[in-house]
This record gives sequence, C-alpha cells and structure tokens, in this order.
Amino acid sequence: MSKPKIVILGAGYGGIMTSKSLEKLLKSGEADVTLINKHDYHYLTTQLHKTGVGTAADRQIAMSIPELINPNKTRFLRAAVSSVDINTQEVHLEGGDTVKYDYLVIALGFEIETFGISGVKENAFAIRSFRSSKTIYHQIIKQFNLYKEDHDPSRLTIVVAGGGFTGIEMMGELADGLPKLCKEHDIPYEKIRIVAIEAAPSVIPFFPKQSIQYTTEILKKRNIELITSTKILECTAEKVILENNLEIPTKTLIWSCGVKGNSIVHKWGLPIENGKIPVDSELRVKNMKNIFSLGDCSLFMKDEKNALPPTAQVALQQAPVCAKNIVASIRGELLNTFEYHHKGSVASIGLMAAVGKVGNFRLSGLFGAFMKQVIEARYLFNLGGPSLIIKQHFGVSREPVKVTAKQ
Ligand SMILES: Cc1cc2nc3c(=O)[nH]c(=O)nc-3n(C[C@H](O)[C@H](O)[C@H](O)COP(=O)(O)OP(=O)(O)OC[C@H]3O[C@@H](n4cnc5c(N)ncnc54)[C@H](O)[C@@H]3O)c2cc1C
Repeated sequence: MSKPKIVILGAGYGGIMTSKSLEKLLKSGEADVTLINKHDYHYLTTQLHKTGVGTAADRQIAMSIPELINPNKTRFLRAAVSSVDINTQEVHLEGGDTVKYDYLVIALGFEIETFGISGVKENAFAIRSFRSSKTIYHQIIKQFNLYKEDHDPSRLTIVVAGGGFTGIEMMGELADGLPKLCKEHDIPYEKIRIVAIEAAPSVIPFFPKQSIQYTTEILKKRNIELITSTKILECTAEKVILENNLEIPTKTLIWSCGVKGNSIVHKWGLPIENGKIPVDSELRVKNMKNIFSLGDCSLFMKDEKNALPPTAQVALQQAPVCAKNIVASIRGELLNTFEYHHKGSVASIGLMAAVGKVGNFRLSGLFGAFMKQVIEARYLFNLGGPSLIIKQHFGVSREPVKVTAKQ
C-alpha cells in the first residue's frame, strides 16, 4: 500500500511548525510530507519593521527553509500554489505542475486590508512580507537620493497609517533607525518628518489607558507627529488625503491598517466565512475529514461570537495540534481538540522600549523590550534550537536570501 501523502501549503509560522512537529511525530516511512512555499525562505513577520528600516541584517529576519527542515523527513518545494482541486485531491502550482495529497494543510497566511480606500493598493507600501518590507527600505533610500537633487521636503516625510501594534512598531523603528540611515546617506535628520495617522482617538486603542499614555508619550518624545481620530480618504503617489481637509505631501505611505485572510483560497470550493476558511475544534476544515487549516487564513471560533485573532501566537499553538491530528487520522486514532491559551502581547517601540501585557502584568520600557526579545528568541529556539539563535545573532551562516528591490 502506498504511503499517505501529507501536503502543507505555506511555510510561515503555522506551516513550518506543522512540518517540524510532523518530523517528530511520524514514524520512519509512515507518510510522505511535502512543504510548499513560494519563496525558499521563512521570515519573521513579527520583525518585518526592522527590514523596512534596515536595522536588522537579512539573515536575522529571513531563513533558508531547506536549512530549517530535515530533508530526510520533509520534501520542500519552492513553488507558488495557484489552486487546489478538492475532488481529485490535487494541488496546482504556478507553472503547471500538480501535487497529489491525501491530507492537506492550508496555512497560506494573510493579505493586506485596504478597506477599499482609493490609491492605497497602488501607492502605499505594506509591511506584509520580507519582500514588501525590503521595498520600504529601498523606497526610503531612493527618496533620500532624489532629495539631494530637488530638495523636495515630501521625500523626507514618512507617513505611517495605523496605530495598532504593527504601526507603533514601525514608528519606533523609524525613529531608531533613521538617524543612522540619514548619516550614511548624507541627509539632515532634522529635515525628516514621521507622521502617524490613526482613525481611532488614540494609538493601540484596545489597550489599557496607562499603556496608551505611555506609548503616546514615547512617540511624541521621539518627534513622531500623531494625528488621531482622523481617517485616510485617499492616497496618491504624491500625497495622503485625510478627513477635515488635511493633506500630507509624501512619497512614502507605510500601510499597517490591518490584514485579512489570503483570498487565494476563496475559489477552491472550500467553505468561506468572513473571508477565511472555517475550521472545527480539531482544526479540520468544516465538514472535511482530510483538509486542515490554521493561522491567518483560517477562522477558529473561540466562542459563539468571537474568532481567534490573526496572530503568530495562535498559528504557533495550532501547529502541533494540527500535526497530531493528521497523525491520529492516519493511525485511525481519536483527534485532539485545540484550545488556545493567550500568553500576552508585546509590541516594541524601537530597541529600548516596548508596551504590552503578559499574563496579568502590564509591560513597558526596557523590561518590555527585553521581554519582546525573549519571545522572539524562544520562537527561534523552537524552530531551530540554540544553533539557529547563534546563527541569527552572530552571523555564522551565509546570507540565505537574495531579494532585490521591487519598486
Ligand atoms: C508587521 C507585522 C507584525 C506582527 N507582529 C506580531 C507579533 O508581534 N505577535 C504575533 O503574535 N503576531 C504578529 N503578527 C501577526 C503574525 O505575523 C501572523 O498572524 C502570522 O504570520 C500568521 O502565520 P501564518 O502561518 O498563518 O501565515 P504567514 O506567516 O503569513 O505564512 C504564510 C506563508 O504562505 C506563503 N504563501 C502565501 N501565498 C502562497 C502561495 N500562493 N503559494 C505558496 N506559498 C504562499 C507565504 O510566503 C508565507 O510564507 C504580525 C503581523 C505583521 C504583518
């Protein structure tokens, strides 16, 4: 009898950790596992703001997938998935190849939510992937170079849309990294303007009052202009148009206003709710026995009304349960129920400050920044053991990723 074929789509947090768990759980020769991802690197989405400002080396953010998996246990395929045929149990890849599956894991992540605001898709720079964050970095440098020719101040104005966790991480990183970048490119830092726009009355509106106050003070101290209670109406290549007849001339709008599930899954005949794939308590796609989904492209209801949020923390907790349930399905055993345990959330504001909550403790300042580093190091440890932490921090490995600017 041929071995069951397990195919995992996406090597982000959910996909790669599912494959790592399967490597541990499956007995030799029990199943064939194929991991498919459109790039041959896995990136730390939670650190992309650093790539955007150039404050981290590429190897610290993006890691070669073949170096993270065991090639004797997992076959890696660098390919973009175009569709899945759930009747013939085939994955179709861009370029025409197909891959057969008996068990499928869909972990294709998120895409940017633009809320249909005119010009955002075409002109804004999203913190979405390693590549898109690299594009932000190249855009900043390009505008620095052009400023030297025409002295147009809008080239040195960087607008960050969205004052949630991703937005404040980007603002903090800009304030940290731009002085050095300006020096390197002979640009007067005092001419730089960083403007943050938030539709709600404050940044991180979902956080306690003290955390909001702390974050607002830190951002103001770092000369970030905060515009709150104001919606973006339109964005062009030259300016951002806001409510109340406000306009900000800029060539660089960084978009961090939210995400939605990857829409590529919408046409595959799977159930779709709120733009995502609804899964049952065992992480199987509703009414399907052999298709699992996790992370940002899936919808897991924590109670009757509320879904789990799209976070790495959720995807990482789902991955081992998903792997266990595939193995249980193959062996004809009972499946495990997924239970989410919220461990807290921390957002950095540059290298030396952070804000968040872990358990019942409100975090801020240097201690918060330290905790953020601990959380990131813990993930690297789980992904590749101590050797990966050493490689990432001390540059033992070669640069694994080549990405050129996509302007
Ligand atoms: C800037 C930023 C900061 C964040 N910070 C935090 C944080 O501090 N803490 C936290 O818990 N969460 C954070 N999040 C959320 C977190 O990153 C996501 O929830 C997490 O990445 C979801 O994991 P995933 O496996 O579902 O998807 P992803 O990690 O997005 O992985 C999806 C993978 O699928 C691949 N893929 C997509 N389409 C295709 C295709 N057609 N073919 C082949 N491969 C494809 C992608 O290349 C990617 O590798 C942050 C998100 C952003 C954008």
